[in-house]
Amino acid sequence: MSALAPLVDGFGRVHRDLRISLTDRCSLRCTYCMPAEGVPWLPGSTMLSTDELVRITRVAVGQGITEVRLTGGEPLLRPDVVDVVRRIAALDGPNGSPEVSLTTNALRLPALAAPLHDAGLTRVNISLDTLDRERFTALTRRDRLHDTLAGIAAADSVGFAPIKLNAVAMRGVNDDALVPLVRFAVDHGYQMRFIEQMPLDAGHTWDRVQMVTQTEILAALRTAFELTEVPGRGSAPAELWYVDGGPATVGVIASVTAPFCGSCDRVRLTADGQLRSCLFARTETDLRTLLREGADDDALAAAIRTGLAGKKPGHDIDDPSFLQPDRPMSAIGG
Ligand code: SAM
Ligand code: SF4
Repeated sequence: MSALAPLVDGFGRVHRDLRISLTDRCSLRCTYCMPAEGVPWLPGSTMLSTDELVRITRVAVGQGITEVRLTGGEPLLRPDVVDVVRRIAALDGPNGSPEVSLTTNALRLPALAAPLHDAGLTRVNISLDTLDRERFTALTRRDRLHDTLAGIAAADSVGFAPIKLNAVAMRGVNDDALVPLVRFAVDHGYQMRFIEQMPLDAGHTWDRVQMVTQTEILAALRTAFELTEVPGRGSAPAELWYVDGGPATVGVIASVTAPFCGSCDRVRLTADGQLRSCLFARTETDLRTLLREGADDDALAAAIRTGLAGKKPGHDIDDPSFLQPDRPMSAIGG
């Protein structure tokens, strides 16, 4: 097997983007992601150590991964997250060093934005579902809007750009207030992106009929803005529109009503060392056990390739036989 052969699945999709969940723990309890209490945490002994995590990432980068996104759970709860960023950013593969980015709820960014920037983090995506304090508290089950906004400002002040803000559109929760989120983003030079809610909540309460669709999101935004489609989406999950002629843009990630599985270049590693070829995969490749049983780098690389070879063409959310994955989003890594 050539180390330079692209990381390809059975449908010819080349994989360059590795999403790593650093922890399944979180400081918020967003209703679309985690239950209010009684979360079945991953046992500590199953969690990858930082050396293990960096080793798997090094092997993946050696196989052609060029982008690493750190996520969770809340990735900034991992005590050595700055060290993780520094070590991954310094890896070297056939395509050079990977770009390292982060998806976060921003609560710890006031303290960590500067050291993360210095460690080589290139970009941050921040979850912000509402600008209303009461709604934020109901939605995340924590009264922390102020801290999220402080975290966004901290990321901005140390020079992260572009800052992308993600909101899951939810009926009766924030779907009547999408316009103020776009105004906030445009005013600050950030990019607002709306995500269609996916069946990944721990409570398994997702309902296809209830979810807010891309069509509804765009209709709501067009009441206030002129939107013009930005051409050239590539493998990016978000479809973009210029807001009032640009340069500001707004994105919609229509994972349910307009899936982008055909151009997916993503593969995931959970905090307990399981490789997942898709958010919705029902099988995983156990890299942790392989590694702990002494597998060498070639064996790990072969396991990554075999895991990817079984990737399905799409997530089939709309198929009557669809089954939600056993893990909630917080334990997969969004
Ligand atoms: N805690 C970090 C955060 O909230 O940004 C990172 C992990 S979170 C699981 C990653 C992303 O997944 C967030 O943007 C969140 O809004 C999104 N997400 C979580 N559950 C979702 C669901 N059921 N449908 C769509 N997006 C979801
Ligand atoms: Fe935590 Fe992010 Fe899930 Fe919200 S979406 S509960 S911040 S992991």
